[in-house]
Amino acid sequence: MKAPKELARLLGASKASVKPADLARAARDFAGNDLGRALCVVRPADTEDVRKTVLWARKAKTALTPMGALSSFWAATRAAGRVALDLRGLSRLLSVDALEGVAHAQAGMSVAAFDAALSKKGLTLAAAPDGFGDATLGSLAANDTVAGLGQFAAPATSQLVGLTVVLGTGEILRTGASSVLGLPAFALQGVPDPTGLFLASEGSLGIVTELLLRASPRPKRSALVLRRPSSSKDFARLAAAARALRGTPGIDRFLVESWVTMRPDEARVELAGPDDEALRAAARRVAAAFKAEGLPEPEPAGSGKSRWQERPLGKESWKGVSLQVPHANAGRVYDLWVTRLRGRVAGVASPEGFLRTYLNAYGCASLFGWSFPAGEAAAASSAEVERGLRTLLGPLGIPYRAGTVWRAALDGRLDPVYAGTLRSVKTLFDPDGILNPGVGVVDAALRRGTK
Ligand SMILES: Cc1cc2nc3c(=O)[nH]c(=O)nc-3n(C[C@H](O)[C@H](O)[C@H](O)COP(=O)(O)OP(=O)(O)OC[C@H]3O[C@@H](n4cnc5c(N)ncnc54)[C@H](O)[C@@H]3O)c2cc1C
Repeated sequence: MKAPKELARLLGASKASVKPADLARAARDFAGNDLGRALCVVRPADTEDVRKTVLWARKAKTALTPMGALSSFWAATRAAGRVALDLRGLSRLLSVDALEGVAHAQAGMSVAAFDAALSKKGLTLAAAPDGFGDATLGSLAANDTVAGLGQFAAPATSQLVGLTVVLGTGEILRTGASSVLGLPAFALQGVPDPTGLFLASEGSLGIVTELLLRASPRPKRSALVLRRPSSSKDFARLAAAARALRGTPGIDRFLVESWVTMRPDEARVELAGPDDEALRAAARRVAAAFKAEGLPEPEPAGSGKSRWQERPLGKESWKGVSLQVPHANAGRVYDLWVTRLRGRVAGVASPEGFLRTYLNAYGCASLFGWSFPAGEAAAASSAEVERGLRTLLGPLGIPYRAGTVWRAALDGRLDPVYAGTLRSVKTLFDPDGILNPGVGVVDAALRRGTK
């Protein structure tokens, strides 16, 4: 086979592998989806390695799939007959400017490693996806991640100051308003900034190799456990409490997690902010609406506790589907879940299966996930949940990349002018169509163009 040999010659033998263990890792994502067998796995160390690989792929007319931690659960990657680009070797923190609050890192660094490095300077990545800390920084842009571990005021991607992206032409594009003028990172305005074009492009418009990210002061945290928020009325009240806390001085973050099936009828509320008194007052307000057990003292900033919880289940067995709804619909969704969906999947779901609900306070994001045992039961359960989402919950929100439900939602809704613009951008950035073909919103735009 030509590909591994040529790539080994180009990049060095240690960076192009056909070892069974490497191919096996690239063949299965976190949720157990079968991605197929890659031609080989390339492990670049920097932007230049990625550029060389893209130029090779153009010439060889071979598709490339960038891979981070492979924790996206909606089959966002494919490996069969392609070169798998394992980006986890791009794992260096390049610099931190504490005064400007901007950090520069390579895209394969995990969000947990990045946050741990920032914590030494009293800083944090304020909003991040909640995939046990494994998610790579590049995925913040590539997936346009929802902040499972969220900030009070903004989604995860609002922390992006600029990107370094290798386009499908092999050109290196630096985004961020100050970067396009060759200036150091600062909040320059008045220049069109292409950063947004790469959000949720899932590797199909370019490969993100470096990011400039806003680093925020590390907040204090306070968590309280609420017993029995078991009805939609309770849940709607919780959503109202989240809304009421928006704009409260001294509270930067509000997150509700509930674990319906794993730990029945329990919710955990996390509040975060710089000020002890504001945290205590906010905790009292939430507790007044519920029978909260005890009011915790805020933990000091940098108490060393990880923001990511431990894996509840083995890596192979995670399955997930999720939905974004306006807060106003959260109570109704909760009700439908408890009374209808939970019953429907109970026959096949593991008792460990869980529902997590995030009521981030920036308006409308609520996120749901489930886990099931590996194997056929898992596939049956998640298909059932997908169907349930579509029929019961779909009208209340928009499914968040939940497999076929997401695909159907995209096909039905993409504005034709938007789709046409995206097709033009794809032709410009990836004229040979070598970057992660067949996935996500860009693929939906291309499909629409052929109708
Ligand atoms: C338990 C659990 C909780 C989760 N919670 C959240 C959550 O709160 N919010 C949320 O948004 N998601 C969540 N997810 C989904 C997933 O973890 C995140 O979206 C995460 O950001 C994916 O990161 P990754 O490194 O695994 O990316 P991958 O899954 O490896 O890749 C994601 C996509 O981006 C492409 N890609 C990867 N790296 C790059 C790059 N550098 N440049 C260009 N394209 C690239 C890939 O080809 C793929 O299409 C969760 C998943 C699990 C299992």
